Amino acid sequence: MLHPVETSGQRGSKALHDTAAGIYVHIPFCDRICPYCDFAVVRTRDDAIARYCAALRDDIERAALPAGGVATVYFGGGTPSALPPARIAALIAQLRAKFAFNPDTIECTLEANPSRGVSDLEQWRLAGVNRLSVGVQSFDDAELHRLGRDHSADDASAFLDAARSAGFENISLDLIAGAPGQSRATFAASLATAVASPVAHISVYGLTIETGTPFATWYARDPVAFPDDELVADLLETADTDLTNAGFVHYEISNFARPGRESAHNTGYWRQRDCIAFGLSAAGYENGLRYANHRDLLAYCEAIEAGRSARAFTEHLPFARRIGEAAMLALRTNAGIVDADFGRRFGIDAATVFRAARKKCSAAGLLEDDGARARLTSRGRLLANTVCAEFLTPELPGNEST
Ligand code: SF4
Repeated sequence: MLHPVETSGQRGSKALHDTAAGIYVHIPFCDRICPYCDFAVVRTRDDAIARYCAALRDDIERAALPAGGVATVYFGGGTPSALPPARIAALIAQLRAKFAFNPDTIECTLEANPSRGVSDLEQWRLAGVNRLSVGVQSFDDAELHRLGRDHSADDASAFLDAARSAGFENISLDLIAGAPGQSRATFAASLATAVASPVAHISVYGLTIETGTPFATWYARDPVAFPDDELVADLLETADTDLTNAGFVHYEISNFARPGRESAHNTGYWRQRDCIAFGLSAAGYENGLRYANHRDLLAYCEAIEAGRSARAFTEHLPFARRIGEAAMLALRTNAGIVDADFGRRFGIDAATVFRAARKKCSAAGLLEDDGARARLTSRGRLLANTVCAEFLTPELPGNEST
C-alpha cells in the first residue's frame, strides 16, 4: 500500500484530507413520484416521516466525528422541503450540537420543490438553512406537465421571489435538458427566465432515461417524443453560451454560478473531500472508505432500530483508485487536474501518472493540457464520460498501485 506524501515530503494519511468534511442527509419523501425519477423516494406519509426521522436521529447520534471538522451540510432527496419545518430545524440543531459547527460559517443547503413550502421559508432560514436548491426543471408549462411535475412555471417563479424576499441570497435552480417535446426555443426561453430570476446558481442536467421508470416504457414505445442526442448536445451548448453571456461561470459540467456562489458542498465532492452520509440510500466517503446505506425505507429503519449499521455497501478504495477517481472528479470542473494540487494532495506527479491519458485525449481535441494543468475542452465536456474513463487507471510505479 502506498501512502501519499505531504508537501513537506513526509508521508502520512493527513495529505488525503483536503479540508473539512461535508454532511449529506437524505430525505426520501415526495408528494408525487415523477415518472423519470430513479432516486430512493417514498410518497410523503406522516407515519413514515415520524419513523424515518427517529431512525435518522439515531443514525446521526452514532456517527464518529471527522478530524477536520464540518464545512457544509446538504439536505437532498427526495424532497427535503416536504418535511415539516420543525423537523428540519430539529435535524440542524442535532447536527450542530453533535459536530460543533458554527452555523454562520457553514453552507447549509436544502433542496426544495416549488409546489409548496412558501410558508416555510422563514422557518428554514431561522433554523440555519442559508442556501436553497429549487427543483424548477423547466419554465414551460407543457414541458412540466410531460415531466409529471406538480407545479407550474408561475409557481416556480413565485417560489423563487418569495425565497429572495424571505432573505435567501444564495438560491440555485435545476433545469432539465432533453425533456419530452423540448425544443431549442423552449429551452432557451427557460434559460432566459432562469437568468432573470433571483438565483445565483443554475444546474443543467441532461435527462437520463432510467430503466424501470415510466419514462423508459414511454421511450421504448415512442422514442421520437424525446429530443435525440444531437439536440440534447445542442441544448447543453446553448446553456453554456447563454449562461456564460449572462455572467455565470460554467464551473462544472452541469453547474453554473455567479462568481463566488459555487456550491461549496458539491465542490467538496469534486475535490474528493470526506462526506458523512445519513439516511436512506445516502452515499458517503470517509478517508478512502466509500459506502452507501440501504435503499429500502423499511430495511434502513429496521437496521438502525436494531442497533445495526445502515450500510448496505462499503468499499475501501486502493490508492490507485483514489487518485484515478480524484482525476475524474477534477476533470468535471473548470479547474481540471492541477498538477501542483495533485502533488500536494497525493504526493504524485500527475503529468507522469496520467501521461498516456493526457496525450491521447489532447490529441483527440478533448483536453487542453498546458503541462501544469489539464482540463476538458468544450467538445471534451460533451464526451466527459469517455475522457474520464481514460483516467481511471493511473500509471503508478510498481507497488504504488494498491
Ligand atoms: S421531486 Fe425529485 S426526487 Fe421526488 S420524485 Fe420528482 S424527481 Fe424524484
